[in-house]
Amino acid sequence: MSAEITAPPYRTIPIIPALKPGAMAETKSFVANEKIQEAIGFPGKLVDDWHDRAIARMGELLTQYRSLKVFLDACVHCGACSDKCHYFIGTQDPKNMPVARQDLMRSVYRRYFTLPGKLFPKLVGARDLTREVLDEWHSYFYQCSECRRCSVFCPYGIDTAEITMAAREILNSVGYGQKYSNEIIGKVHKIGNNLGLPGPALADTLEGLEEDVKDACGQEVRFPLDVQGAEVLLITPSADFFAEPHIESLIGYAKVFHAAGISWTLSSKASEAGNFGMFIGNYEQMRKIALRVREAALELGIKRIVVGECGHAWRVAYSFWNTLTGVGGGASDPFALQLQQQLDHRYKQPMHICELTWSLIERGAITLDKEANDKHIITFHDSCNVARGSRMGDILGGQFEIPRNIIKASANHFHEMLEGTTHEKTFCCGGGGGLLTDDLLDLRVKGSLPRMEVLQKVVDDHGVNFMATICAICKAQFTKVLPIYGFERGMVGGVHQLVSNAIRLGDK
Ligand code: SF4
Ligand code: SF4
Repeated sequence: MSAEITAPPYRTIPIIPALKPGAMAETKSFVANEKIQEAIGFPGKLVDDWHDRAIARMGELLTQYRSLKVFLDACVHCGACSDKCHYFIGTQDPKNMPVARQDLMRSVYRRYFTLPGKLFPKLVGARDLTREVLDEWHSYFYQCSECRRCSVFCPYGIDTAEITMAAREILNSVGYGQKYSNEIIGKVHKIGNNLGLPGPALADTLEGLEEDVKDACGQEVRFPLDVQGAEVLLITPSADFFAEPHIESLIGYAKVFHAAGISWTLSSKASEAGNFGMFIGNYEQMRKIALRVREAALELGIKRIVVGECGHAWRVAYSFWNTLTGVGGGASDPFALQLQQQLDHRYKQPMHICELTWSLIERGAITLDKEANDKHIITFHDSCNVARGSRMGDILGGQFEIPRNIIKASANHFHEMLEGTTHEKTFCCGGGGGLLTDDLLDLRVKGSLPRMEVLQKVVDDHGVNFMATICAICKAQFTKVLPIYGFERGMVGGVHQLVSNAIRLGDK
């Protein structure tokens, strides 16, 4: 499929794209079939009374989430967000402007939930929810990666991602879900991870990894699974178990635990850090997926929970696990309280693997040979959900500084990409938010244009040949789109891939 897709030409930066109305109107995610929908509790197909049910669900969400109502009411159409979305930049379709995406729902909200919209719909841009509008929702709310970049530039902080999540929840509630995300959620419930990798296959993979690492560095680095009484439970994206370059970071985590003498384990029950419940805006799914982590933690009797390199997983862990599961204070059900008692509160719960590694580097508990990474001239891609959806460590901006500190401690050559495209203004990789599917490859390639342009510049200016990131989706997306833009596929990798190269084993 990638052979037919070509990369759009680079633009001169910065530039506001010329409009191509309707350019992406035919781009649609595959619709989930009955089996996929019903497996996770949604109607199997579009219900007969979809109109009334959709409006009713919107009413519930407006009551439940005050922010949604505020976002729908507050926009003054100033346009500050309009050229900030990578999908608009790459596709030039005006419906991919954040404000236009919001208006897909705002127009319906006004028609059914505001007096002027009920009395004078045309005057206030209110529209009936027709089948055509519903189809438009399915198309354009699945052309948003929920990256929140637009919200950084909005004077009111309006978060298009929340509107996208609400729209997806409404679509699911009437039986009109997206195949990719919903199928993955089903796999997590049935098998334990996004990739459908069963426990025995995971055990084999980890055993094989131990042998590979021993062959490579002569050390008995363990990749333990389901170890009762381990100190740390590592929750990491399942892509880390076999995808490239993800697995290189898994090797890095294992070497960090080994070098620091920390006992740790993975879990076959919670063999997935990802939580697509967030992508579809369904908090019940998000909770169910997150509860696997709690069950595993209670069963294994661990003391600390550490999360691997995965952007949205870290956002869910950092922002939602406390009230969903009791990892961190918030939830008050008996199991949450039991877990609270079990965890060691001298440590952050949960903790990002980068926080753990950086704290070990800072206090000299692990040693790194920077020269081991001398072949790499490195830049860092901030992942959206880490940059704009969470924090890390004890300092403001720790989510930006800690991964960079680790890179600089592991390597001699580091260069930032262009200001305004990193930190909280980072561009999405183009594949987040439930869009990492080949049925949306054209969108993904176009959506990665702004990041590729800036990468090209740092390559031209400084000879960068490695883009580090701490997100499983970014790694998978870049692996796919880098070659389409003429870069080496292997140019992307994890921060712990660099740690893995540099760490000295057997010192302590
Ligand atoms: S959240 Fe991200 S993908 Fe969605 S409209 Fe805003 S900038 Fe675009
Ligand atoms: S920046 Fe905010 S107020 Fe302005 S158009 Fe965008 S969403 Fe509306």
